[in-house]
Amino acid sequence: MHLLLPAHTGPPDDGLLLKMQVAPAVSVETPIGVVGAGTMGVGIAETAAFAGHSVLLHDVSREAAEHNLSRSAARIRKRAERGKIDPATVEAALSRIAVVDSLTDFATAGLVIEAVIEDIEVKRDLFASLETVVSSDCILASNTSSFSISELACGASNSERIAGMHFFNPAPVMALVEVVSGLDTAGRVVDRLSQTARAWGKTPVVARSTPGFIVNRVARPFYGEALRLVTEGAAEHPTVDALFRDPGAGFRMGPFELMDLIGNDVNYAVNKSIFDAFNGDGRYTPSLLQREYVAANRLGRKTNRGFYVYDDSSRAPDVPCVVPGKCKGNLRYHPDCSLAAALNDLAMAAGVEARADTTLPKGAGDISGILLFRNDGITASDLADAYDRSVVVIDCLEDLSSHRILGFAYAGRDEKHDLESIAGFFAFSSVSLVRLDDVPGLVLMRTLSMLINEASDVVYHNVASADDVDTAVQAGVNYPKGLIDWRRRLGPTRVLLVLDRLFDFYREDRYRASPGLRRAARAQCQTGENPAGKSL
Ligand code: NAD
Repeated sequence: MHLLLPAHTGPPDDGLLLKMQVAPAVSVETPIGVVGAGTMGVGIAETAAFAGHSVLLHDVSREAAEHNLSRSAARIRKRAERGKIDPATVEAALSRIAVVDSLTDFATAGLVIEAVIEDIEVKRDLFASLETVVSSDCILASNTSSFSISELACGASNSERIAGMHFFNPAPVMALVEVVSGLDTAGRVVDRLSQTARAWGKTPVVARSTPGFIVNRVARPFYGEALRLVTEGAAEHPTVDALFRDPGAGFRMGPFELMDLIGNDVNYAVNKSIFDAFNGDGRYTPSLLQREYVAANRLGRKTNRGFYVYDDSSRAPDVPCVVPGKCKGNLRYHPDCSLAAALNDLAMAAGVEARADTTLPKGAGDISGILLFRNDGITASDLADAYDRSVVVIDCLEDLSSHRILGFAYAGRDEKHDLESIAGFFAFSSVSLVRLDDVPGLVLMRTLSMLINEASDVVYHNVASADDVDTAVQAGVNYPKGLIDWRRRLGPTRVLLVLDRLFDFYREDRYRASPGLRRAARAQCQTGENPAGKSL
């Protein structure tokens, strides 16, 4: 009996897949077709060729195809000369790529991946032409970043074989491949593409066709919140970047450095396209500040000026840390304070006495009479009003002791004395403090809560599994941890508190919590556990 998996409308059910035979990768003996020989097409062709396939590469302009391929080949040969890669392997792989003039050459291909310009009519016409040429079991995949796979497949005579195979730039280097299913895409096609990506040394994840798929959607708040914080004057952009790069957060690059690298024009265009694709949902509202940068041609590294200046004379801007003074007094902490152990270590380093004190507000520490709270989204001003004391809220994520730079907000009466004391206390452990404006959620916890919220929403709406979301952000945008994993580590209730406080403060849809996050928080309250995943 011919076993056909049902149309793929969500992440695969592991149990079901185990019972059914998973469709194998496209055989290495079978040629791969690539249409469009620009940045992505050439990279995809090389990836398939290095995996052992013969590759047929076609572009409307043969000249462009040959030029782009030979330029890229020269770069790979340079790497071989530097001993980074075996020259014989390089020559063998490059010899497997043939530029062809006509789509009729694709008759023997088992998989054709299109990477032509981002124009839906061009892509649909291309699929229609390919259908007249390729065999009935050939898979047709699109590398589109923004179009619906269902829309691309609409009108095709066999829409079950059309799927997204979304590589990231540069395709030979980036591990992640999002395999995207439209409404009609057959499950076996999704499996085959996933297996093929794996055979090519990639890390596949499966997503339902929705705007931005996984990474381009989940990553939006990384840029959006950073821009928003700077627009509000909560922090300067070098401070935001430094806080993200700090081991306490663990990102390789801060959001502004990354936007400068990507190009503000490209990043803004993606922000705008996701906003439009979600019918103007306030959660994705593009930044006016970034639009201004684009308008001023401050695009980033490519124009030598973006958020930073890139010329020989420019140097990294300073992060204005508080100058520490003497820390007099002692440390007290409520026994339920989540920072107690880390504060104790700091007190030891500072040589100040430390002891538990049940008269303090729950969860608080007290350094020389200044109340210290972990950032759970309440502003320092609100806490100072509530306790009629000077308050510091520190923007730490999981582990206070891993931070080298700590953002904080302050509200109190004796600012100079209080800030010097607090900075003095941390300075003994070589932790520098940088003051942020007293906005809810501050920088790290606010941005991470927004990222986790988006990831929770993707899982809640069955766009992708929790595991695939976590794999995607680590392999696709180099996040130090998966976001659903981070939700578990921070506690969904804490993340939800931050989101709800942001929502209360701003009264904007942008900060509405996903039902997926609410469910995770409820499960945490009911079970005391912190489970990740959809079954919450
Ligand atoms: P590109 O402009 O570098 O290359 C597009 C190529 O397609 C050009 O060489 C052009 O001549 C060719 N072309 C146009 N119409 C054609 C047709 N009808 N038949 C054959 N060739 C045709 O574009 P790119 O950056 O490589 O992007 C290609 C696709 O990959 C787009 O769908 C884009 O959204 C997607 N994508 C791009 C990136 C990226 O970072 N550049 C990342 C992921 C996905």
